[in-house]
Amino acid sequence: MAPPEPRPLLFRNCELGGRRCDVSVRRGRIAAIGDTLMARGDEQVLEARGGALLPGLHDHHLHLFGLASALSSVACGPPEVEDEQALAERLRGATPRSGWVRGVGYHESVAGHLDRRRLSGFRSDLPVRVQHRTGALWMVNDLGAKALGLDAPDLPEGVERDAAGRATGRLFRLDGWLRERLPGSGPPDLAEVGRLLARHGVTGVTDAGADNTPRSVGRLLEARKTGDLPQRLQLLGSSELGRLDVPAGVQVGAVKILLDEPRLPQPERLADRIREAHAAGRGVAIHAVTRAELVLALAALEEAGAEPADRVEHASVAPPDCVAWIRRLGVRVVSQPIFVRERGETYLTEVEERDRPWLYPGRAWLDAGVPLAAGSDAPYGSPDPWLAMAAAVGRETRCGARLAPGEALLPDEALALFLGPLEAPGAPPRVVEPGVHADLCLLDAAWSEVRSDLRAEHVAATVCGGHLAWQAPHA
Ligand SMILES: [Zn+2]
Repeated sequence: MAPPEPRPLLFRNCELGGRRCDVSVRRGRIAAIGDTLMARGDEQVLEARGGALLPGLHDHHLHLFGLASALSSVACGPPEVEDEQALAERLRGATPRSGWVRGVGYHESVAGHLDRRRLSGFRSDLPVRVQHRTGALWMVNDLGAKALGLDAPDLPEGVERDAAGRATGRLFRLDGWLRERLPGSGPPDLAEVGRLLARHGVTGVTDAGADNTPRSVGRLLEARKTGDLPQRLQLLGSSELGRLDVPAGVQVGAVKILLDEPRLPQPERLADRIREAHAAGRGVAIHAVTRAELVLALAALEEAGAEPADRVEHASVAPPDCVAWIRRLGVRVVSQPIFVRERGETYLTEVEERDRPWLYPGRAWLDAGVPLAAGSDAPYGSPDPWLAMAAAVGRETRCGARLAPGEALLPDEALALFLGPLEAPGAPPRVVEPGVHADLCLLDAAWSEVRSDLRAEHVAATVCGGHLAWQAPHA
């Protein structure tokens, strides 16, 4: 069922660009802005009491299906789970869903290298699958391996085997294959994801799934149509995605290319893929988290000829020569400042010392004039963009250490990371003016107050395409 035509809205006494005014919303767009607007009688009036009215936030890189599943999974990594005993307790106490126990967010700091044998030691009465927090690896127990038929011959590359040829229960980059083998677990609850994002003021998202195909994104389009997912949606993904017929509010973005350091492609091969995407009228979004991956991505972009629609995802380690190179190529960067907070502790111990000053830069990109935007990478990072903004400003890890503090941004710059258009991350922030789509985030206080207290609790209401998608109790 399609959502009904949204009821007109009238924001009373909000702060827009530093001054107080009223803003009216009709048929999904900003209808008028004025010192005092006359109510027409059919509107829902929102008393803003001086709260700032911002363009709705855009999360430029997340994974909607993964986020939906994570909401019904057990946490297997820090900060919820810090050691082996806590992991065992979590898995033992977990409620299965569609017959499986599903864990997420695992990191070796909890209990080292996990395989089917060790996972069976934690829980052996049900199939268990645990995802590594990078999203690149699934680990299953013996019953899980059995359910997936891992001991059969002819399995895809990515099913790890030991010296004797037996599957270890570790599956690399096999999400699509796994999804096909797992029992029908019912559609993931995208309505819950839509609500969660709206609660944080998010009105637009870019789904960065590398294996997004016209078939696999069907549920996302359906969720847009029913209103379960009120956010504007851009889809990165496979080259076939270009053939997709998209409804209003959805757009097809760049071709996503994953680089994995142990198995990097030849630069010429990567350049060919970039040329193919460009020839089809699409940019590329290249996933590059290590220094070597970034250098390869840039060399290939250079060879193929970079275009403004091209983006580098993460660019987690970006020394000055790479920053200058990206600037020269004119490529956009979609970063995840949330990882400074959530993974900073591990970075400080595990990342090579020479790379540490260049971890998730902020200031360096802006100083160089590189278009910089942010995404949460949820479910691998928290979906709360306010936590990410605070991390971009404070550069603090969860335990209070500071990571490359010289890379700190000002609050306004951190906010701007989430305000660019979906199709041009890092472009100047969208503005609230008559005629534009009514994608809005109302805060409970003036920006001058919130900028020094970047927390999602300040979001008072969220409007997606003219629909009031969320309103704080008592707002
Ligand atoms: Zn991602």
